[in-house]
Amino acid sequence: MAYHKIVVPPDGEKITSLAQPLNIPDHPILMFIEGDGIGRDIMTASLRVWNAAVEKAYGGKRKIAWMEIYAGEKAAKLYDGNYMPQETFDALREFVIGIKGPLTTPVGGGFRSLNVTLRQVLDLYACLRPVKYYPGVPSPMRDPEPVDVTVFRENTEDVYAGIEYAAGTAENEKLARFLREEMGAKFFEGSGLGIKPMSAFATKRLMRFALRYALERKRKSVTIMHKGNIQKYTEGAFRNWCYEVAREEFAEYTVTEDELWEKYNGQAPEGKIVIKDRIADIIFQHMLLRPAEFDVVITPNLNGDYLSDALAAQVGGVGIAPGANIGDSVMLFEATHGTAPKYTDQDKVNPGSLLLSGVMMLEFMGWWEAAQLIIQAYERTLAQKVVTYDFARLMDGATEVKTSEFASAIIQHMNG
Ligand code: NAP
Repeated sequence: MAYHKIVVPPDGEKITSLAQPLNIPDHPILMFIEGDGIGRDIMTASLRVWNAAVEKAYGGKRKIAWMEIYAGEKAAKLYDGNYMPQETFDALREFVIGIKGPLTTPVGGGFRSLNVTLRQVLDLYACLRPVKYYPGVPSPMRDPEPVDVTVFRENTEDVYAGIEYAAGTAENEKLARFLREEMGAKFFEGSGLGIKPMSAFATKRLMRFALRYALERKRKSVTIMHKGNIQKYTEGAFRNWCYEVAREEFAEYTVTEDELWEKYNGQAPEGKIVIKDRIADIIFQHMLLRPAEFDVVITPNLNGDYLSDALAAQVGGVGIAPGANIGDSVMLFEATHGTAPKYTDQDKVNPGSLLLSGVMMLEFMGWWEAAQLIIQAYERTLAQKVVTYDFARLMDGATEVKTSEFASAIIQHMNG
């Protein structure tokens, strides 16, 4: 495909599909969207670290051919005010793996949110948030070490489907009449009304993905988070559909918590993943008091939104929490925080969230050596208390450095 503003690197090779097993060439074209606000600072810093790690790990045999694509304010400047140009979607569909910085939601620009648009248009149905404690990171917990959880959040339905009717509108009154007169529902006059659709289709494809991930990474359990005791036909159905996938499609590799005690005396047999479920409210307490009991967690959209930020807070906050939005044909890794506009171009903020999202991307590509190098160097840098302002203000005896200096410190540790 011909592009207007996007320059396809001539020395790069295209990743043609996400079909498993992934076939990644040695010089893959990977896309990046710089992002608004602090995006430029954290992307510049992270690109240096990713490139250094790949060079160190593979001595030039493998090299990423980066291709910039545009969204947000940078796109608006290049494409006559268009914050989300069509060719950005075209490139994402053609080159399949990319990473993005945070994007401002233009006020009155016609989009609810650029991020939501990307997820919906590209059907990025799984939101992944690995949440792991790194020694030295300031945490409000007494014992954060055991926190190592990957949240699979459903990304396309639930109350995010946007089916809502404001009180006092004709649509609301029509729906209210239908619910009262034809369905026998009872609720207060003048209520705002929202619909929460949850399907077997969307739930099951997410559960398949979570189980494949858990198997490949040799994780021990998959916990289904739901509020099925109250919302039986949405959240309760989510729970049931998840169990159905485990039972019907992964029987050989899974065991339920009940079976674990009935048949195996509480010890999962080698190679089997334990499937359990927990109610959405109590899981927050368990995550704080018994985090070691959780490994992979699968959640509907809204629960996952709450849980992933709460979990991130346990291990250092959204400034370092990585993320990805993944579908069957496109993977988009991303910083999970926003554009923090007051810090724009100050070379000040923590690049951790974007940096670790890139580590996750390298892991998905099977470039484990490069990913591991970054993690080790990141841990060594933290151990020396060399950190950006956000951590420095929470640590005694820290050396506060700029975004770019933090990246340099990691690269030094990688090479030293
Ligand atoms: P935010 O940009 O995440 O910033 C809130 C605060 O979080 C910052 O003031 C800063 O705290 C801290 N923070 C964020 N990123 C950090 C980093 N890398 N290092 C250190 N500290 C960091 O949230 P917001 O102010 O609510 O949103 C601003 C804009 O971002 C909005 O336009 C919103 O729509 C957009 N947004 C985009 C995404 C996305 O693209 N995925 C996500 C969320 C929000 P201190 O003030 O304490 O230093």
